[in-house]
Amino acid sequence: MKTLSLFFFLSSFYLWAQPEDKLSYQDFDSYQEIYSFSQLEKKLTFYLKKHSEIENYYHLDKNTFKIYASLTDKKKDVPEYILRLISEPPATKKKTDKKLSELRIALDPGHLGGPLFSRWESRYIDMPAKKGKPSMTFNEGDLALATAFELKILLETQGAKVFLTRNASGQSVYHKSFFLWLEEDFLSAVEKKISLITDPAEKSTVKCWWLTQTPLASIFRSLYNPLDLKARAQKISHFSPDISIMLHYNAGAANDLNGQNQGTEKNFCMAFVPGSFSKGELQNQEARYHFVRLLLTPDIENSIKLSRFVVEEFVEKLQVPPVSESVTSAPYLKNFCLATSAKGVYARNLNLTRLVPGTICFGEPLYQDNYQESRLLSQKDFVIQGVAAPNRVKKVAQAYFQGILRFCER
Ligand SMILES: [Zn+2]
Repeated sequence: MKTLSLFFFLSSFYLWAQPEDKLSYQDFDSYQEIYSFSQLEKKLTFYLKKHSEIENYYHLDKNTFKIYASLTDKKKDVPEYILRLISEPPATKKKTDKKLSELRIALDPGHLGGPLFSRWESRYIDMPAKKGKPSMTFNEGDLALATAFELKILLETQGAKVFLTRNASGQSVYHKSFFLWLEEDFLSAVEKKISLITDPAEKSTVKCWWLTQTPLASIFRSLYNPLDLKARAQKISHFSPDISIMLHYNAGAANDLNGQNQGTEKNFCMAFVPGSFSKGELQNQEARYHFVRLLLTPDIENSIKLSRFVVEEFVEKLQVPPVSESVTSAPYLKNFCLATSAKGVYARNLNLTRLVPGTICFGEPLYQDNYQESRLLSQKDFVIQGVAAPNRVKKVAQAYFQGILRFCER
């Protein structure tokens, strides 16, 4: 069963790695002879390279930056794309900033929410009753949706054009609902997976396991969730936003074997921006395209500027301190992230931080399983567009709003 679990884990990566439409590096031709060696080297070191294995896919010298499909190609010096560098970069022109009323802003309420999918995604709080206090149940997807509705109103009042990736609790962004996908596409998704296995006996075992033994929740997380994340990135890109905000609520403690979260005293806020590529994360062309985009465009720098303001507002408005690498409830900061100059803002290679171009902020304003936060978040103080929500999310929306305002006024 151990082998199967490993395959199960790896296979969710391969679903992302399937070759689809090849993205064209010619998109970056306008960056020819713009940057110097030291500019690119700094950016690679500070924001992009989490693991040294990433160096297998590129070469940087005084004259060129080259990207390769594999280490073999690098050894043969067969690059996918060559960027010519210059020795002295010209003084950078200050770009003209847009007012909030001119901005297009995409809001992505994280996860699907709803009573069933939030359980399958393991994005819910179900805290048992303790010392005479009642049990608490709520889910991250619905909190994120209510926050997005509230933030949309604040931004639209200022004239911004706002787009939401989803508008209902329990709704996927992928064009087919989970159950329709299960009926129509599950079998072909399994066939696609096993096509990567060369040994016929293993192929047959794995296929049988997928079709007969896999719980629905695992099928949902492993096969359907990646499709939904990709659909979010595509929808956001199609809207061509100036700013994209991914709205999430973090947790400090994991669910126990009964699926319950016992809560935590800890509470931290943070935001993620693109970058920090780890081992194996440049294996597909789409990832390498976005790696080059992040190296050449100001998307990371702008995302840090925005996220710095947003985190400062989380701290002030919510009274939640910014996280740091020494926080034990956030081991992913050490393992997968690169710290930026802004407190609580980290480069992290999540699907959405990588795939969505432009200025982004992937926000985690608080720990929803903090005892005090849980009490506040389990309240149903108001209803917004059919979703019952706690007043606490209004404060979170105001923090995002002020952060965006400050970014525009900088
Ligand atoms: Zn989340």
